[in-house]
Amino acid sequence: MGNKRRGRDRLESCSSCGRSVPRDKAVEYSTRTHFTTDLKEDNVTYTGFRDVYYCISCAKHRKIFEKLKQQAQRQRERESYG
Ligand SMILES: [Zn+2]
Repeated sequence: MGNKRRGRDRLESCSSCGRSVPRDKAVEYSTRTHFTTDLKEDNVTYTGFRDVYYCISCAKHRKIFEKLKQQAQRQRERESYG
């Protein structure tokens, strides 16, 4: 078996610049999204997590690496407290 299976993995499109990035290189970042239904009578707010993929340059530009670090730190703190 050769080593040619690389590069044909799943491609994710960067949600900032639209470049298609292999999943190995893409930076996964989950954002919290709010959906408000203002048109309905009940003002319901849905919160959901949405996974977003960025290419490395966009991740660097948006300082997502630092955010991920902070997330990891928070998780660690939670685990240590719980
Ligand atoms: Zn990008």
